[in-house]
Amino acid sequence: MTVEILSRELHNFIDEGRIWDDIARAENPAPGLVRDVLEKGLEKKGLSPHEAAVLLKNTDADLDEEIFETARTIKKGIYGNRLVLFAPLYVTNECGNQCAYCGFNAKNEDLERRTLTMDELRKEVEALEDIGHKRLLLVYGEHPKLGAEWMADTVRTVYDVTSEKSGEIRRVNINCAPLDVEGFRTLGEVGIGTYQCFQESYHQKTYAHVHHAGRKTNFLWRLHALHRAQEAGIDDVAQGVLFGLFDTTYEVLGLLYHALQLEKDFGVGPHTISFPRIEPALGSELAFNPPHPTTDHQFKKIVAVLRIAVPYTGLILTTRETAELRKELLEVGVSQLSAGSRTYPGAYQDPNYDRPDVQQFCVGDSRSLDEVIHSIVTEHGYVPSWCTACYRLGRTGEHFMELAKQGFIQKFCLPNGLLTFKEYLEDYASERTRDAGMALLNQEVDSFPDPKFKGSLVRRLDRIQHGERDLYY
Ligand code: SAM
Ligand code: SF4
Repeated sequence: MTVEILSRELHNFIDEGRIWDDIARAENPAPGLVRDVLEKGLEKKGLSPHEAAVLLKNTDADLDEEIFETARTIKKGIYGNRLVLFAPLYVTNECGNQCAYCGFNAKNEDLERRTLTMDELRKEVEALEDIGHKRLLLVYGEHPKLGAEWMADTVRTVYDVTSEKSGEIRRVNINCAPLDVEGFRTLGEVGIGTYQCFQESYHQKTYAHVHHAGRKTNFLWRLHALHRAQEAGIDDVAQGVLFGLFDTTYEVLGLLYHALQLEKDFGVGPHTISFPRIEPALGSELAFNPPHPTTDHQFKKIVAVLRIAVPYTGLILTTRETAELRKELLEVGVSQLSAGSRTYPGAYQDPNYDRPDVQQFCVGDSRSLDEVIHSIVTEHGYVPSWCTACYRLGRTGEHFMELAKQGFIQKFCLPNGLLTFKEYLEDYASERTRDAGMALLNQEVDSFPDPKFKGSLVRRLDRIQHGERDLYY
């Protein structure tokens, strides 16, 4: 397969005609058809892009509720009430591209450009470790002077920052511009978790319209980024679309065709999918006035339909959405959440961090990690998790998906999540979060279904109470 892939031309596996045909056949779907698709969804084997379009094109409010209910059932069945937390860390805002929606675009002359030194990066990581983060997403602008070797150095630096008081970062994921296979290999060698690259738009004309200059103008090079990462041995890859640029149904189908192509070529689809909505960004007119704004209802439907269509793929949300909408999005599908996010280099040590002039985009929710956790626990009854067990035990890519399909997530991810939650409550939580968190944790342990496993879990929680750290199954 490798030889075949290496010689593969950069063909466009996103067939626009086929997507429009899928959508046209899904217009005004009969209620019986919508229910047939939902019934198939409940088998947890996923949906075809056309079936996803049938759900997205339904306009009947009662049937929309049935779509949400199906997504809730699938979410609960596979993921339970566990929610993985992470923080983005911006390493550089230097960028040679001109993406019309982004505050870091090269044309934005008002933006103070900054690339963290390794020392500054270390301080950012310390600040994040001090409040309890264990999983980071490193984010980079695309500048020719900052290549794969330098990025690999930044990852090494992050993993190196450990202290007895505040712990360590246990998984570093990356969101950077597409590299060649050699570049990805360099990143793979320093032990990155997921490589994340958002296609922004799967509609080639729209893509060309919003990417004015720089390397990112090459649609096909970006479209094949996750393939090259896989070829280089990074087997947890993550897709995304920037909603607001083009027709939402088209973009969801683009995501699904991309996932199918990865599955066909590598035996495994994306580890996660992200679906940012365009946020206001200084230096970008488009970001204040997106051509295809996504309503809250459409957004909730996108999340629900993705949950049904790719049941074992993690869905990532940022904390930008309002608390009420976030609660609904968690219920219908989201499994990972960023918290306490700051979106410019050096932000975590900046005492005046609320600065729209240097942010990539405006973060609507500036609550601290502890506040977000308090709300997750008390308002939603979710168990926050910083688990990194699978990545560290080599349960990645196809191997992870196989286990997930056998019910592994419910069996192991919840206890692993509880172990990391206990660490958080012991080491970082405010008093009110600790009280609320301990009540939830005890309730989860009491209702743990497997008595043998429960005994082992209780013993491990006790070991954490007595000072041991980083225990997992
Ligand atoms: N420079 C790399 C790239 O473009 O792939 C990675 C970092 S870039 C900052 C990460 C993502 O931010 C982009 O892929 C885009 O989807 C998202 N983004 C850019 N501008 C945004 C905005 N105004 N609102 C929300 N998300 C935005
Ligand atoms: Fe640069 Fe990425 Fe922003 Fe585009 S989206 S301007 S490539 S940082």
